[in-house]
Amino acid sequence: MARRKSHLLDEIREVLARSGNAHHAELVGGVGDMGDEAAASLMRDISEAEVLRDIGEVRDIVAAEQRITDGRYGLCIDCGEPVAYERLKAYPSAKRCMPCQQHREKTRAPSKYTGH
Ligand SMILES: [Zn+2]
Repeated sequence: MARRKSHLLDEIREVLARSGNAHHAELVGGVGDMGDEAAASLMRDISEAEVLRDIGEVRDIVAAEQRITDGRYGLCIDCGEPVAYERLKAYPSAKRCMPCQQHREKTRAPSKYTGH
């Protein structure tokens, strides 16, 4: 788990480095000790840095970081079941297990439920 976490932090640093914001990359260096407030503040700073292309990615990773902190990483946020390892490997910041993700995509697709 520690390796997974440092991998995610590397990804965050990489995203921030790509955004050309060395200050934030430095800031994230201490993310291991970050509280919710610091993380929220970091996300606000990143938003203001106009790296919108990367925001979704960073937000997912930071959310994953929060779940690691809470001990919920790798658990589906919908059903609470562990997310398949292969899925996490392909998509480390996955929030849902495959069945729940598919269900969600299905229910969000145009259907009678979105009728007027
Ligand atoms: Zn699920």
